[in-house]
Amino acid sequence: MKSSVALQIYTGGFGSPAERLNVPSVISKLSRVYQKAHIPCVMIGWNPDAKIREIVDFIKGHGTDVYLWLPVFSGWDGLSPLVGSQGSPVKHDYRAVKGERFDFGCPASPANIRLIKRVFQENYGDAPYDGVFLDKIRFPGFIGGIGSALTCFCPHCRPLHALPGNFGLQNDENPLALTAYDGLRYETSDESVARLFDYKAKAVTASAADLSGHFRALGYKVGLDLFAPFLSWFVGQDYGALAPYADFIKPMFYRRTDAPAGMPFELNAYSSAFGGGRRPAGLRWIHLMKVLRAPAIDVEFINREIAAIRGKIGNTKLYAGIEINSIPKIAPVTEEYIKESITGIKDADGFALSWDLNSTPPENLDAALRYL
Ligand SMILES: [Zn+2]
Repeated sequence: MKSSVALQIYTGGFGSPAERLNVPSVISKLSRVYQKAHIPCVMIGWNPDAKIREIVDFIKGHGTDVYLWLPVFSGWDGLSPLVGSQGSPVKHDYRAVKGERFDFGCPASPANIRLIKRVFQENYGDAPYDGVFLDKIRFPGFIGGIGSALTCFCPHCRPLHALPGNFGLQNDENPLALTAYDGLRYETSDESVARLFDYKAKAVTASAADLSGHFRALGYKVGLDLFAPFLSWFVGQDYGALAPYADFIKPMFYRRTDAPAGMPFELNAYSSAFGGGRRPAGLRWIHLMKVLRAPAIDVEFINREIAAIRGKIGNTKLYAGIEINSIPKIAPVTEEYIKESITGIKDADGFALSWDLNSTPPENLDAALRYL
């Protein structure tokens, strides 16, 4: 039987089209993948003016579902802000590629959920999509330091979780007082941390349930872009709770990406976020690896993560997200890395070859097709 491969095509952000969307080249790459693999779905987004008609027709002609790739709680003007523990809005900005924004709003805010529904209806509601692929359906990680992860204390969120007083964060090596990792979530001995992170997971789940119910009622399927399990707890993504609201999930097992959701980026951000830079951040890395009981974040560790997810997601499909695109410094993806990921990662329902087929070098696509 052919392997299943989901694909992503980045067409640029809202109001900022991708610089070189090469339609003939994308179609030629797609047709090479079709010769080797089954493509259940392609996620395309999210520039509403991108000329994707020919690509969409080609994909649909093969019976593949086309999903709109839609960021949720980041990148939209007018999002109600995230608020930090001191009561002021958390501001951070980071851009890995043109048009992609990481300025998060509050994921629990009913106003923000209404805004996303409206953005969809006004800009994408007439297009022939089969599904909606929800990206950034989460809190930010440590992208803006400690302040962005210890959120949200807006008037909606604060009464639902906050204890009086400030966060302790006394231990420089282990600021969140993590004591154990069970394969999907951490235990912490700090009650204020436990309450906040429990709340974050419940808030994201409630918003995902609302948006998924909305899109399914309109006839769309739903996919979710998720942080790898050992990072998902930090951003409020609970695999078991979220799975019923998705037709498929894509855990981002990005071992090479030095940008948000990439493991090197998120681990460095976690390590650097605390202590005001006074102590070597490496200490926190080392401590986290001890809690994870893993010698390294390698393919073997990823397979452990997949086994933990499997027990929680029922019939929801799991496409393991790996990078095949390549960006100097940000995503230094080699043929050897692709080979290691595709031959080593087991027990997924397929791979999601990310994060953009348009900019994937031909030799990387060759490598993926060779080992599928
Ligand atoms: Zn909030």
